[in-house]
Amino acid sequence: MKKIILSLGLAVALLGPLAPAAHAWGFFGHRVITQVAIYELPASMQAFYFRHMPELVRLCTAPDERRNQDKAEASRHYIDMDHYAEDNPFAKMPRDYENAQEKFTADTLRKYGTVPWTVLENRTKLVEAFRERDTTAIVKYSAELAHYVEDAFVPLHTTVNYDGQLTNQGGLHSLWESQLPERYILTYKLSGDEAKAPANSQDAIWGVIQNSYGFLTATFDLETKASKGFTPQTKYTYTHRFGKTQRRYSDAFADEYNKLVGGQVDFRMRQAAPMVASFWLSAWQEAGRPDLSGLMYPAKLSKEEKEKLDVQLKAFKANTLPQDQLLLAQQKEKKVEAPDEIKAADPNEALPPPEPEPAPAEEPAATVTTPAAPAKVKVKTKGAAGTEKAKSKPKPASW
Ligand SMILES: [Zn+2]
Repeated sequence: MKKIILSLGLAVALLGPLAPAAHAWGFFGHRVITQVAIYELPASMQAFYFRHMPELVRLCTAPDERRNQDKAEASRHYIDMDHYAEDNPFAKMPRDYENAQEKFTADTLRKYGTVPWTVLENRTKLVEAFRERDTTAIVKYSAELAHYVEDAFVPLHTTVNYDGQLTNQGGLHSLWESQLPERYILTYKLSGDEAKAPANSQDAIWGVIQNSYGFLTATFDLETKASKGFTPQTKYTYTHRFGKTQRRYSDAFADEYNKLVGGQVDFRMRQAAPMVASFWLSAWQEAGRPDLSGLMYPAKLSKEEKEKLDVQLKAFKANTLPQDQLLLAQQKEKKVEAPDEIKAADPNEALPPPEPEPAPAEEPAATVTTPAAPAKVKVKTKGAAGTEKAKSKPKPASW
């Protein structure tokens, strides 16, 4: 195993950083979820959030955008639970930050990620913003809170093997959270539950992380399964950029992986939106339910705004937001193919994308209630010489 990891390390060094996705959850995924969350709010909050929808959707990717400038930012987006224990790390990790810090030290928590506490911190800031009736701060912290809650829904944000880099599955991160949603959005059912303030925000976000962790086995194993029948030439696409060769999964492979993973990505997106809305709602309630129309000028939605919202709510309920081109992310994220992209030598690659798959099954590829052990290979690599090296590769800025 040591050997495999070392040679993987060499491959990474030769290839340069594994191609970071254009965006993670992708900017695309983050923006879709944040927009959909607005449709799941109660009427008392919806008008305000709808009025500010373009800003919310734009600002919800700010935490990823500042990662290059702010070194402290990276660890706020994930928590590598399997660092703490191979089996059921949730039993070992105190949910409360103070207790967790006492047990593992602040440095360790920072190193392996703090997303649950970052969510709670931003929720507190949002409560304060509501109390202050500060529109700018409400929009800002609603967007930031949305980002971190959304990150907690991504299985690969809960493991040291966050990019499949320890199991020779490098690039898995952007395949899961960017390539698949961008490619299959037309098949996704985005209409989720209405917002419901959680009784306990700390438990709610830890529940999200525990469920994400439960999807890891499927996330890794199905990549292996999908690989059968692919050669390195057909599995990956190589891109030359700035003198470096980068590798990402080919669209043909993405199609195969998507077939196996089924509705997992769609399912996590559909669950993330109501959780975002629920956190906004709970912050607003805790702040004493301020009248948000008092912060709107004009105080009510115009006839035109109302009509737009109606159309969007109907499309949301009918699951046709992407088909109707009503997602702001679709309008902004026209994908431009790099001119110097080298297509893998797979004749199938030249074919147009297949017809959209039938609607994904309601049940995703993993049970959400029972957290399973993450990828077995990773567990075996603990303490191996190559592991630290691979782990210490900074996570790309867009994650
Ligand atoms: Zn993030």
